[in-house]
Amino acid sequence: MAKYIFVTGGVTSSLGKGIFAASLAKLLQARGFRVTIQKFDPYINVDPGTLNPYEHGECYVTEDGAETDLDLGHYERFLNVPTSQANNVTTGRVYQHVINKEREGAYLGKTVQVIPHITDEIKRRMLLLGQTGNFDIVITEIGGTVGDIEAQPYVETVRQIVWEQGHENAMVCHLTLLPYLKAAKELKTKPTQHSVKELQMYGLQPDILVCRTEMPLTQDIRRKLALFCNVNIEAVIQASDVDTIYDVPLEMQNEKLDVTVLNKLQLPTNNVCQLDTWKTFVDHLKNPTETVTIGLVGKYIELQDAYKSIYESFIHAGVSNRCKVIVKNIHSESLTKENAAEELQGLDGVLVAPGFGSRGIEGKIEAIRYVRENGIPFFGICLGMQMAVIEWARNVLGWADAHSVEMDEHTTHPVIDMMAEQKKITAKGGTMRLGAYRCAIEKGTLAEKIYGKAEVSERHRHRYEFNNAYFNDFENSGLKASGKNPESNLVEIVEIPTHPFFIGVQFHPELKSTVESPQPIFVAFIKAALEKKKATHLIASATA
Ligand code: GLN
Repeated sequence: MAKYIFVTGGVTSSLGKGIFAASLAKLLQARGFRVTIQKFDPYINVDPGTLNPYEHGECYVTEDGAETDLDLGHYERFLNVPTSQANNVTTGRVYQHVINKEREGAYLGKTVQVIPHITDEIKRRMLLLGQTGNFDIVITEIGGTVGDIEAQPYVETVRQIVWEQGHENAMVCHLTLLPYLKAAKELKTKPTQHSVKELQMYGLQPDILVCRTEMPLTQDIRRKLALFCNVNIEAVIQASDVDTIYDVPLEMQNEKLDVTVLNKLQLPTNNVCQLDTWKTFVDHLKNPTETVTIGLVGKYIELQDAYKSIYESFIHAGVSNRCKVIVKNIHSESLTKENAAEELQGLDGVLVAPGFGSRGIEGKIEAIRYVRENGIPFFGICLGMQMAVIEWARNVLGWADAHSVEMDEHTTHPVIDMMAEQKKITAKGGTMRLGAYRCAIEKGTLAEKIYGKAEVSERHRHRYEFNNAYFNDFENSGLKASGKNPESNLVEIVEIPTHPFFIGVQFHPELKSTVESPQPIFVAFIKAALEKKKATHLIASATA
């Protein structure tokens, strides 16, 4: 039988519940337990797929094609184990299920209510992964903050599960903030006391208090928190601000979080915590021997969370190359033909980001023209790949109005077109080409050199596609399709063999990069950027 750990948050949002959950999972996995993490989000959208990145950051896509919260990205990056549709549940999905059942007549004349019908459905989903036999421990993160109206059914369900499963099988970690008051030179515990009281009001007692703090916790503070909040002193865990999220598992290990959790769940603590690979990763991350500067061209760059997986993939690929990757964010709307050279000069590589809609499109095309003409390593993801195709069509093939039908329905050269199966779809939620698809790699191409394989699988999230009606025009003029879906023949990868490093992919490789397994295109891109930087320096010193 699986054991359950619930992670709640108090005082404020953005305390890093996702990173904490992933770090705890990492420690338990490092001790040999099979662990998964799931997130329950209290909003009413059925999934975050229809949310603008400004609302909720990046939408993370799983192997099985679920559009999910970006915290699932952290789970996968930390654990190196794929998540699935079952790992992210929203209030919208829960209600949709219950309402559909009611329409089918499943409740046989009963009044359908939050308790027990909604909480039963939440419970069914909270216990689901634990019942598969695939996991020893299931960690469930509850989105939002305790006290939010919409979080109440979740907190109530956790109370029921702890009661039904027993305290040795289900426990609660409560993440909270200890504000530091400069004037008083003191960490304050009152907000934490209040948020624990709030939990207790719902009949839930936290077993562990994880305290986000700018200052170290003194023994006095720990004692005070333990006393006021009904927890053991060793269950008061300090979570200080750290340089990188990859430090958090190590910090939690220093606080003996894993031992405290295992003791509480009556699980053995005698197996060693195998974190050597992780420690080497963090060591390399903190001690790079080189640096490269990559331009990230996108329209959501003011928001850190919008390209989360891309930033993290750069970190993984940087570590693989023993190199610090400095990302220069470039707003696609600010790029024009006139300023592209000035804005992009000095960059060792350029990544053009995914996206939807026409805002900033022309800037992306100008960025691609500049890097293509100047031999700067280029990596285009999804919309970034589509823009590379359009740039080639316009500036090499001379089709001035070439476009994607997403932006211009009436173009005479729809080089990016809507996929046939998409044409009949009108609903927006969950209807894109989503999740993992196979990609056969052409022999002798850059893609083959990067992957070293004849076939790969990568995740997708798009409606539009390279238009195969123009396939020969592109191939004959020098833009090659080096990866295709073996069933549908859809073009998945394009490249320019005469360019030092120019690759565009229709899929989202950033969704598969993890600490243990950095994504190969990112690794090769950073390597190419390093080579470009060294070559530029050589030329500069030779001409000096
Ligand atoms: N908007 C494009 C499409 O739907 C690209 C999507 C993306 O970049 N994820 O095909």
